[in-house]
Amino acid sequence: MTYVGRFAPSPTGPLHQGSLVAAVFSFLDARAHQGTWRVRIEDLDPPREQPGAADAILRTLEAHALYWDGDILYQSTRLDAYAEAMTALRDRGQAYDCGCTRREIAAIGRTGLEGPVYPGTCRQGLAPGRSPRALRVCTHDDPIGFHDRHHGLVSQRLSREIGDFVIRRADGLTAYQLAVVVDDAFQDITHVVRGSDLLDSTPRQLHLQRLLGLSSPTYLHHPLVLNGTGDKLSKQTHAPAADDTTPLTNLAAVMDFLDLPLPVDWRDATPTALLEHALAHWPFRA
Ligand code: GLU
Repeated sequence: MTYVGRFAPSPTGPLHQGSLVAAVFSFLDARAHQGTWRVRIEDLDPPREQPGAADAILRTLEAHALYWDGDILYQSTRLDAYAEAMTALRDRGQAYDCGCTRREIAAIGRTGLEGPVYPGTCRQGLAPGRSPRALRVCTHDDPIGFHDRHHGLVSQRLSREIGDFVIRRADGLTAYQLAVVVDDAFQDITHVVRGSDLLDSTPRQLHLQRLLGLSSPTYLHHPLVLNGTGDKLSKQTHAPAADDTTPLTNLAAVMDFLDLPLPVDWRDATPTALLEHALAHWPFRA
């Protein structure tokens, strides 16, 4: 079996215990299948990024012996590829300019899985006097399903549950959904392992893969680390940065979260030895 996996952090801040779980999970799953593990920095949204965060993330991976294969891909270097994909979709009538504001959509859209469902106002062309803001991709009502390695069968009807979604934002930035699909294909990713907060995004990604003629990887969306109030650890919920000087305790906490055993003498071991021990007990099969 060919296995190419990846870890794709956004450099909006340093890694915290939750993103460390995502890194370790995707790393161990790749190594358990004799696979390649790539790192891609998703630096597509400068207003949300923190200077120095990308380098801090890479240092944290190294401090935890999470060594990647090949070169790092920075999404900021891939804008031409995204533009090409958007042009292809637009030329084939699968994407269209939308002039609606967020407020207009909220006023008329039904509520779907992630806020208002775009009602398709601009699908047949912009109304006179409106200027283009975002670029949206056409969706349909047929179920888009896939087998998630953790959640089992997942299916969505995009036009009903999400609506025609944005692939280039009104501020001109490429939307995550498009960039991730173009780059997973570009990097020959066969197995995506990431947090369950992205489970609902996957049917959108499968839809784009089909429209662009790209093959689809398999997916595993793992449980998220929650804080004391039940929220996902994130910058918004003020999760502290992983401390690079205590990789053993950080990794031990990750193994505990994943229900993986630790060697008895783990406090005197190395990060590599902890990861190898976890690998020997890795329960997930692709
Ligand atoms: N960059 C995304 C994040 O940090 C992850 C994207 C993905 O794994 O598909 O949440």
